[in-house]
Amino acid sequence: MTAAPVLVPLPVDRPYTYAVPEGIAVSPGDVVAVPLGPRTVLGVVWDGDADDVPAAKLRPIAERLDGHIDQDMRRFVEWIADYTLNAPGIVLRMVLRVPEAFGPEKPVAAVRLAGAPPERITPARKRVLEIVADGLSWNRRALAEAAGAGVSVIDGLVDQGTLERIFLPRPPVVKPPRADFARPILTEAQGQAATALRDMVAAQAFSVALLEGVTGSGKTEVYFEAIAEALDRGRQVLVMVPEISLTSQFLNRFEARFGAPPAEWHSGITPRRRERTWRGVASGEIRAVAGARSALFLPFPDLGLTVVDEEHDPAYKQEDGVIYSARDMAVVRAKISGFPVILSSATPSVESKANAERGRYAHIELPDRFGAALPDIKAIDMRADPPSPGRFLSPVLIEAIRQAVTGGEQALLFLNRRGYAPLTLCRRCGFRFECPNCSAWLVEHRFRRQLACHHCGHAVARPNRCPNCDAEDSLVPCGPGVERIAEEAADLFPDSRVLILSSDLVGSIGDLRQRFEMVEKGEVDIVIGTQLVAKGHNFPLLALVGVIDADIGLATADPRAAERTFQLLQQVTGRAGRQRDGGRGLIQTFDPDHPVMRAIVSGDRQAFYAREMAQRERQGLPPFGRLAAIIVSGKSQAEAAGYAKALARAVPSGEAAGGRNGHGPIRALGPAEAPLAVVRGRHRYRFLVKAPRSADLHRFLRVWLAAAPKPRGSLRIAVDIDPLSFL
Ligand code: ADP
Ligand code: ZN
Repeated sequence: MTAAPVLVPLPVDRPYTYAVPEGIAVSPGDVVAVPLGPRTVLGVVWDGDADDVPAAKLRPIAERLDGHIDQDMRRFVEWIADYTLNAPGIVLRMVLRVPEAFGPEKPVAAVRLAGAPPERITPARKRVLEIVADGLSWNRRALAEAAGAGVSVIDGLVDQGTLERIFLPRPPVVKPPRADFARPILTEAQGQAATALRDMVAAQAFSVALLEGVTGSGKTEVYFEAIAEALDRGRQVLVMVPEISLTSQFLNRFEARFGAPPAEWHSGITPRRRERTWRGVASGEIRAVAGARSALFLPFPDLGLTVVDEEHDPAYKQEDGVIYSARDMAVVRAKISGFPVILSSATPSVESKANAERGRYAHIELPDRFGAALPDIKAIDMRADPPSPGRFLSPVLIEAIRQAVTGGEQALLFLNRRGYAPLTLCRRCGFRFECPNCSAWLVEHRFRRQLACHHCGHAVARPNRCPNCDAEDSLVPCGPGVERIAEEAADLFPDSRVLILSSDLVGSIGDLRQRFEMVEKGEVDIVIGTQLVAKGHNFPLLALVGVIDADIGLATADPRAAERTFQLLQQVTGRAGRQRDGGRGLIQTFDPDHPVMRAIVSGDRQAFYAREMAQRERQGLPPFGRLAAIIVSGKSQAEAAGYAKALARAVPSGEAAGGRNGHGPIRALGPAEAPLAVVRGRHRYRFLVKAPRSADLHRFLRVWLAAAPKPRGSLRIAVDIDPLSFL
């Protein structure tokens, strides 16, 4: 009997050793079931030698299953574990998320005509027989339905020998895409960009390209050509799209170009479809996938290209569990397997921009918009043109909306705040509604008649009296959310059709996709949207974009506040006038001289990036230095604070901090109470680690965590490498 190392999807640092029973042969990558304590769990036979343990002490592998996790994926798991300072088993869990895919696949049960008619013919039987007379096989339920009979009628005919039961293979999840289905005629600049990308794909080696061009310049058309090249070469393709679950526009465009939609992969697809998609990707039957972050862990046997659309989007960062950037990990996966990655954006992250400037990424630019001219953007100085008291739309913006809707065009009002009002207070006693579990105000949702916490989901019905002073009708909403703007718009334009696009308003994903389609078809005049609308949607009739509060994101301690605001404003104003000239953007701000507002109004993107990079370089911030955050949390404030202090005492100095004696160049700042001090009842403290690019940040963190006391009880440590959130 031999032994094999098996990695289980649990917080363990290394594979456990199991005995391989007689009659089973396993090799690295095989998915197996193994006993663990009283349970049986999935695991993957790992590389390397098994531990030298006496055979009598080993428990045997219970079963070898269908799946296989190839060598590249195993290296990928190890790489992420190493980089994020997580146990490999925890990372493996993200790969084994579809356990149903490792059992035998259930075929579709069907019936067809096989023998003489039964002796007793009922009207229902007669109808069934008429249908199956064509000799084709029928799904049992579908046949019953078509005949207007119960399934028992079908089963009766099977018992009589008139019908026979057969099993059919499952139909494919999607048809294969065709590279040459509908080739566009590209402009000269687009053609050059497409050729450069095609060449990268043809080289079948690792490389990264940053595809940069204003919204509407044809980036999607151009990277479709790279996809066509990969498909032509028989390789699989992954396109990562933020919020893919919320809109069908991308899928429709892909289908129009390639004759079939890509397979979708995100949290909104049904378990049955997940299973079939997993299998289809593994077997190679599925050639193209459009997915969210987790699509990185699909078992592509022959991935030849990954496209990360809207590469700057913060939604690519997974903020809980294993904290990782799916954009960065897409690059890592491509490096391991040796194929190209395309990062596409109108407003690239400063990190990707710097990589392009340093020559580490190819920089492919599309200078002009296709068809229409870029929208004309102006700032509205809210000090000079304030709204009426209790209102949020400046007279300048109102007039522009009036022009748009009377001209039969659409207007979009953008405010990155869900609900009706971000804060509710009692005007008698000053009481404010706060979440009992988080350090956050409760947001009023008038539509649902609730006050809700956006961090933990806690919600209460909005009371009529103040819970503190018992005054009646004394509660006032403070500040606007999209629902309040919609109310104001409906009030000002009673004849216009107003629609809100916000992720929390609607029940199902289908509902939201439907709302997007209503806007596309022109069934809406004024759209009120959160950041959801800034993500690559094409609204053909949209002529005006009004930003309600452009300053919202700037008043934070986030080192990327300016970059984020620039990206969001540029993306959202870029929705205007995509199909026709004359698009307009109006930005309500109290600070029109802020560099972000100036860059948006002047359209001088490069100046903004140059300024932002110079500032980051001075401050040693990414990409000129590296950051990591350590977040300590616990159920009691005293415990969390005490543990944070103990951690502070263990901060390495000297060599581990990158220096020779005394303090090195790597510094751990903190602990400080987190800006979001309490989330879901957990008290939080943060450290921020700053390191020069040349220093070994990972070694510093490992030495530190090894020297720190182990967290006990409710205490937890989370490590966030390259943090995007500082809350
Ligand atoms: P981006 O991805 O840069 O925002 P898109 O690829 O979505 O740009 O292009 C914007 C719009 O212009 C789309 O409707 C697209 O179909 C159209 N378009 C771009 N280039 C061409 C072209 N060469 N021929 C026809 N339509 C084009
Ligand atoms: Zn809460």
